[in-house]
Amino acid sequence: MKMPQPAAEVIARRAEIIAAMQKILPRDSVLTEDDELRVYECDGLSAYRQIPLTVVLPETVEQVSAVLRFCHENGVKVVPRGAGTSLSGGALPVADGVVLSMGKFNRILEVDWENRCIVAQPGVPNLWLTGAVEGRGFFYAPDPSSQIACSIGGNVAENAGGVHCLKYGLTGNNLLGLEMVLMTGETIRLGGRHMDEGGYDLLGLMTGSEGLLGVITEVTVRFLTKPETARAALISFQTVEQAGDCVARIIAAGIIPGCLEIMDRLAIKASEAFAQAGYPLDVEALVIVELDGPQVEADDLIERVGAIAEETGAVSVRISESELERMKFWAGRKAAFPAVGRLAPDYYCMDGTIPRRELAHVLGAMRDMSEKYGLPVANVFHAGDGNLHPLILYDANQPGELEKAEALGAEILTLCVEVGGVLTGEHGVGSEKRDLMPTMFNEVDMALQARVKQAFDPKALLNPGKVFPI
Ligand SMILES: Cc1cc2nc3c(=O)[nH]c(=O)nc-3n(C[C@H](O)[C@H](O)[C@H](O)COP(=O)(O)OP(=O)(O)OC[C@H]3O[C@@H](n4cnc5c(N)ncnc54)[C@H](O)[C@@H]3O)c2cc1C
Repeated sequence: MKMPQPAAEVIARRAEIIAAMQKILPRDSVLTEDDELRVYECDGLSAYRQIPLTVVLPETVEQVSAVLRFCHENGVKVVPRGAGTSLSGGALPVADGVVLSMGKFNRILEVDWENRCIVAQPGVPNLWLTGAVEGRGFFYAPDPSSQIACSIGGNVAENAGGVHCLKYGLTGNNLLGLEMVLMTGETIRLGGRHMDEGGYDLLGLMTGSEGLLGVITEVTVRFLTKPETARAALISFQTVEQAGDCVARIIAAGIIPGCLEIMDRLAIKASEAFAQAGYPLDVEALVIVELDGPQVEADDLIERVGAIAEETGAVSVRISESELERMKFWAGRKAAFPAVGRLAPDYYCMDGTIPRRELAHVLGAMRDMSEKYGLPVANVFHAGDGNLHPLILYDANQPGELEKAEALGAEILTLCVEVGGVLTGEHGVGSEKRDLMPTMFNEVDMALQARVKQAFDPKALLNPGKVFPI
């Protein structure tokens, strides 16, 4: 993967840039030593690494504003960073730029019970939001698997999803307001504590803007009432195509489950060895589905889903009879990513979305591609949303394997676009999928997006090398 050519002239001014940062921030909030900077050299896409000029950790909006204004006026690039869990290289540093870490913005500012919303600083981990309201029977719905670590600011920047997003929406569907600092140093407020507002939908524009349009300094999200009950079913199949078909039929029947996931044989095997969730090992695919709501509704829907599964040729259908059993069904799915990490020295997590009716076709095609490239692919994904997460296993120490994994990933994502889907479901474009953007957008689309970027960041200094092809 190519990165933008670093400006030698900016690197030569490193000492001057650090001195300027130390005037804005306390000394211990400006990291300069190699061992400190190395902590920030990559994000969740760890195949790519780059030591930045410096890392700054502001604590106030005024400090963020002063850092951005200095960088804008002095032609210095800035990479905003939350918790660094991006899987698309969104927070990958550049050699001639400053990493602006929002890690110290880590406070929940207010729980507004009357308006049913939480106001939080952007560095707050996703899981803390539910933690703040669950005592009174509420929850914050978007739940990325990384929720223990990833920040709400990073979630907004990536429009993050999770297993509950089929029914309850992505981050953008639960976002009410933002405070942001522009690259030129001005602070703006978008939205508020209510749904919708007049004028252009700038809140929508910022959601998923991947750190290219401004730095988020405050987030307001809505929270929801916890469903009265939830019941899960573990449905196994002898082919992944049947599992895909089952998912499509559940949705076509007018049922919207709280969660609807698929795991294939490799992922099942890895998870079972890791989490001992009681998954069957002699099947090709598992559908995990959860119905939530009032008891009577969940009981009725789970029966209907069981019947659809039988009609689709399921080998077995297990329905949770207790909360403990339901949690156990999910334990394997939740552990799937780390579990697959034990199968090979490295894996490359893709993220494409396809129309649900294409699930069976695309899963079959991916199996052929995996054989062609000689790299195993494990599948664990948000089937209800058609959001695929093929995990390509490889060994970066073997010459050429990373490039092979990248080529296989590009072929999978190109197929997603060809069948009417999109390049990313929730992980963002970042540096990873940047060069594939022309498979989805034509020149007019790309030029329009570039003009939007220019309106917010005229010198193209904010998160360069991401989203727009080089
Ligand atoms: C094991 C694992 C499982 C995952 N599962 C999921 C999943 O289920 N669903 C999902 O959607 N994602 C998932 N992810 C990906 C990742 O957690 C999300 O993309 C998350 O939203 C990133 O948040 P972060 O705080 O780590 O952001 P970072 O990685 O630090 O940054 C991500 C992007 O946001 C920008 N950014 C961060 N903070 C700000 C800010 N304050 N202002 C402006 N821009 C900012 C950065 O510049 C970058 O472009 C997973 C990752 C891992 C490692």
